[in-house]
Amino acid sequence: MTAPMTRTTCPYCGVGCGVSVSHMTDGFKIAGDAQHPANSGRLCSKGAALGETLDMDGRLLHPQVRGRRTGWNEALTEVASTFSRLVNERGPDAVAFYVSGQLLTEDYYVANKLMKGFIGSANIDTNSRLCMASAVAGYKRAFGSDTVPNSYEDLEQADLIVLVGSNTAWCHPVIYQRIGDAKAANPALEVVLIDPRRTATCDMADQFLPLRPGTDVLLFNGLLNYLRREDALDWEFLDLHTEGIGPAMRVARETAPSIPSVATGCGLPERAVAQFYRTFARCRRTVTLFSQGVNQSSSGTDKVNSIINVHLATGRIGKPGAGPFSITGQPNAMGGREVGGLANQLAAHMDFEPEQVNRVQRFWGSPSIASQPGLKAVDLFDAIEQGTVRAVWIMATNPVASMPDADRVRAALRRADLVVVSDCVRETDTTACADILLPAATWGEKSGTVTNSERCISRQRAFLQAPGDSAPDWWIITQVARRMGFADAFAYQSPVEIFREHARLSGFENDGSRDFDIGALAAISDDGYETLQPVRWPLPAGSGNKRMFADGRFYTPTGRARFVATQPRSPDELPTRRYPLVLNTGRVRDQWHTMTRTGKSARLSRHRVEPFVQVHPADASALGLTNGALAKLESPRAHMLARVQQTEDVQPGQLFAPIHWTDQVAVHGRVGALIKSATDPHSGQPELKHTPVTARPCQISWYAFAIARNSLEIRGCSYRVRARGDGYWRYELAGETHPESWEGWARAALGEGGEWIAFSDAGAGRHRFARLTNRRLQACLFVASDPNLPDREWLGSLFGDETLGSTDRNNILVGRPVDAAPNGGPVVCACFSVGRDTLIQAIRTRQLMSVDEVGRQLNAGSNCGSCIPELNALISGAHASQRPEIPS
Ligand code: SF4
Repeated sequence: MTAPMTRTTCPYCGVGCGVSVSHMTDGFKIAGDAQHPANSGRLCSKGAALGETLDMDGRLLHPQVRGRRTGWNEALTEVASTFSRLVNERGPDAVAFYVSGQLLTEDYYVANKLMKGFIGSANIDTNSRLCMASAVAGYKRAFGSDTVPNSYEDLEQADLIVLVGSNTAWCHPVIYQRIGDAKAANPALEVVLIDPRRTATCDMADQFLPLRPGTDVLLFNGLLNYLRREDALDWEFLDLHTEGIGPAMRVARETAPSIPSVATGCGLPERAVAQFYRTFARCRRTVTLFSQGVNQSSSGTDKVNSIINVHLATGRIGKPGAGPFSITGQPNAMGGREVGGLANQLAAHMDFEPEQVNRVQRFWGSPSIASQPGLKAVDLFDAIEQGTVRAVWIMATNPVASMPDADRVRAALRRADLVVVSDCVRETDTTACADILLPAATWGEKSGTVTNSERCISRQRAFLQAPGDSAPDWWIITQVARRMGFADAFAYQSPVEIFREHARLSGFENDGSRDFDIGALAAISDDGYETLQPVRWPLPAGSGNKRMFADGRFYTPTGRARFVATQPRSPDELPTRRYPLVLNTGRVRDQWHTMTRTGKSARLSRHRVEPFVQVHPADASALGLTNGALAKLESPRAHMLARVQQTEDVQPGQLFAPIHWTDQVAVHGRVGALIKSATDPHSGQPELKHTPVTARPCQISWYAFAIARNSLEIRGCSYRVRARGDGYWRYELAGETHPESWEGWARAALGEGGEWIAFSDAGAGRHRFARLTNRRLQACLFVASDPNLPDREWLGSLFGDETLGSTDRNNILVGRPVDAAPNGGPVVCACFSVGRDTLIQAIRTRQLMSVDEVGRQLNAGSNCGSCIPELNALISGAHASQRPEIPS
């Protein structure tokens, strides 16, 4: 008999993969949904591990008011009465919501409606501000609307894909795989990667342009100028469908007059610039796919428009295989844009033009609607710090970890009259600042819709009961709205009622002058909503989906797309003598945001266990930074500690550190605290990828790790990182000063009771301890004077349910079996736990020449495919008799 199955979508990135959840007798089996158009059955390592993240560990289960567990009524009444009082006393702008691209569209819709339409302020912003606000601003400047012109099928129809500021292999792995398949099917397809850092995505690039950070506008201005010189412009398209090329071309000519000048400014070889320009001019079907590397900049919007300019100039938009394609970071960033989740949008892709405000007010029957944009994320937390915003409700996001100048964000929250946090996780850096905690249902427990990067609306469906008192966000928001006196407007009983209203608003008085119109779904029945198949807007009319801008008409007053004259600008902060290095930030393959979900999976946690910093070997040598030791990175705002990885993947003078580690799992691991809250003037998006810092060796006198069945309280460390293992917790530790007694310290950390075994060589600085009960290992701790400590994998394997045999017991303090084969090394393939050293040895000794051969022999790379770029690097590195620079 076939197991019942729920079709839903992945809660992580903006690819928006369909997920099928089979209900088995012993739990749930997660697989890619073969019928979903975004992924056709594929999932990346994160999506494939979703089944490992469903436990209740760390869940927020009950409302709390100032640390005291309470019922829903008291908590909701307290939120509503405080917000109402502040609005009455100080006006609507005294309160704010900070929401998230993790919310479902229905949650987002009611949050936006409550704040803008009924409280009467536009002070609702979202963490999508950190992700793609520059793309929104760029599209609106060019097209008059926030319209992503492309679909994923364009990637398969293109002759050229230009990836700008996008580590697609790690951040949007299924898109990367689709491009890989497209290349296999069409060997003529060329891929150009433009990124200051050599990433895993380089694996598939025919050309790689490691440009100087922040010089994207210069590169694309140069391209515009080149296209003119080479007579590669589409004059008919320019004439019929665009305006403003004159000023844009003049600025391009002035700022990027020649290939040598562009090459010098971008720090690239002339031949690389020339080759890219020739390729672009030649390939008519071009998709330029861009993401956070473009958007997260103080000139992000100009970068976006410089990309759009070259597409308009060549007429490469509205046609198969062509267009400037912003790919979003979050699962429902696009749904948030549709409902108006950004402070500078109103709703349904309408803004604050008086007639639009009037239209939405009539539709909602609002008593007092916001008539002008509200505070964008950085300004919002500044206003909380300054006391003009007195109460904030944070939903499904963790700004104390993810915002720039994150320590200041925390300090601001501590000054607020009221901080409400709705979340599914009990302890985050942000819930620690909350006065009121509201337990939200999470993925698998809630129902609604999401929209992915290609405007495809999909259902997210519940397959689990929400635990404890937790409830869907839409319900929590509407309950507060009712208590604020808006019961009639928030009388929804289910998400489908909200969806119908959202769809109706999109079509309300929409004569085709607004791009977002899903009015055809406004009468969807309950059953129709339940069985809704993924559908991309504009909704199919006649046969097949309509292509955006296929008729060359745009949503500007003239119907023409606008060129924008883009002046290259330097990043907000430049390196100085004191802060001479530029810190870039980003994601790693197997973690998502602040790790509250992915951090639960032992498999995912093994890929990158600790915060790390990539440093060029020349800088490492000059700075005295040793591979595997700890570095202290410092900006004028804060410092962080990270494990050094020497690699030529970053250029001299540049560093890279990941964004995921929080105070909950790492001491001084929050990179957001270092970053200045400088923003793009048009989008308000912070510059998260260009922070001048200094780096120096940490004054560490000992390194250690501990592994334990239960979580440990370990004190006296300068550095401590916690990660999930399979049946255990792993701690990486380091300290500046020695404890008085290593054994006393170890006993305090590992707990008392049971059998205690110890080894100490004080002269060599080596100390090892273990505690067992009933011949089962409970905890162990290894200390050394340098980072060279035994491998953790074998020790971790001793934390199963079985009792230990005498050989394993005797080998605990050795750290490995005496006759052990060499360890597999850091995990590359998360699905089959295959390590780097195992792979290199097999590739060399068995002469494996391709990923397919590796997959057949070791399974690695044969499931989700997320590790394929790393496998390719290992194959080419091993056969070149070089150890490739793959960070571990
Ligand atoms: Fe989820 Fe991975 Fe698909 Fe993104 S690419 S939606 S993280 S499975």
